[in-house]
Amino acid sequence: MEIKITKTTTPSVMPPEESLGFGKVFTDHMFIMDYNDKQGWHDARIVPFGKISLHPASTVLHYGAEIFEGLKAYRRADGGVQLFRPMENIKRMNRSAERMSLPLLEEKDALQILETFVRLEERFVPKSFGTSLYLRPYMFGNDESLGVHAVHNATFMLIASPSGSYYAEGINPVNIMIESEDVRTVRGGTGYAKCGGNYAASTRAGERAAKMGYSQVLWLDGVERKYIEEVGAMNVMFKIGDEIVTPELTGSILPGITRKSCIEVLKDLGYKVSERLLSVDELVSALESGELKEAWGCGTAAVVSPIGKLAYNDKEYVVGNGGIGEVTQKLYDILTGIQWGKIEDKFNWIHKL
Ligand SMILES: *Cc1c(COP(=O)(O)O)cnc(C)c1O
Repeated sequence: MEIKITKTTTPSVMPPEESLGFGKVFTDHMFIMDYNDKQGWHDARIVPFGKISLHPASTVLHYGAEIFEGLKAYRRADGGVQLFRPMENIKRMNRSAERMSLPLLEEKDALQILETFVRLEERFVPKSFGTSLYLRPYMFGNDESLGVHAVHNATFMLIASPSGSYYAEGINPVNIMIESEDVRTVRGGTGYAKCGGNYAASTRAGERAAKMGYSQVLWLDGVERKYIEEVGAMNVMFKIGDEIVTPELTGSILPGITRKSCIEVLKDLGYKVSERLLSVDELVSALESGELKEAWGCGTAAVVSPIGKLAYNDKEYVVGNGGIGEVTQKLYDILTGIQWGKIEDKFNWIHKL
């Protein structure tokens, strides 16, 4: 694929690494390409970062046809830059596109876009451990008509944001509220797709939990409100006795790449990992009996995030000793070790640039 590059004439200064935060500053450029039924994907280009204009009737503004991905470029100690399992993100984006009737990407083109873009913006990949250049590919339906029909025009974009360490102040356990009113998605819906609409529908519960002092909600399934699904925008895992349990992918859960990697690392370490249904009743009895030893969320942003307290129906339970558990810490060390190139990547997950 040919990518036309127009460089900015006003390069910005990379902000100090300590001040980065998440998703607030962007690199100098952005990638765009367009799709229509006749030409397929075309006009792939990298242009200076800036506002885009949309037709007021654009599909995405009315019917929410939008999907996205999130991955990071990591700086190794030797100065090189690498990605973590980028093909997994590309394949997932195509599964999301298929669900939302958006056009698929050619896998090798998508990888070329990521590589070309990160090489161009390399100076924005911060250097300290825990920091990264966050990459946000996204796609939206862009027909200029209000008719409700399959998408005939779409736009794919990639922007990037140098981001600080998620754990700049140390790994602090988070407090989570089990949500029993709103649901995130249902089986047959869009739960397994990484789409903006899932987030729009989740915000209310998250805001309510925040007002009560909880940082995220733990979702229950949308049919019986009985089975654990995921936490906020992370997958979730529990150590109950000697078994590590994570909800099986029933269709309403986002198949996280961190989740998949955690399962592979844990199995490699010899743990018993079960992907199965886990009811909130089973979870509460494990909390009451003390069998629940550890709980953590997992996702690209935080890698793993220990859960210190869980609240359900006005009761609050402390998980384990309320701190970071042994397995959680091990996963954090191994995954971040591979991602930032500090330990050997025996799984072959790293894609060097
Ligand atoms: C992106 C996402 C995750 C985590 O997926 P990773 O591939 O591990 O980053 C989990 N849940 C939801 C709802 C998500 O959008």
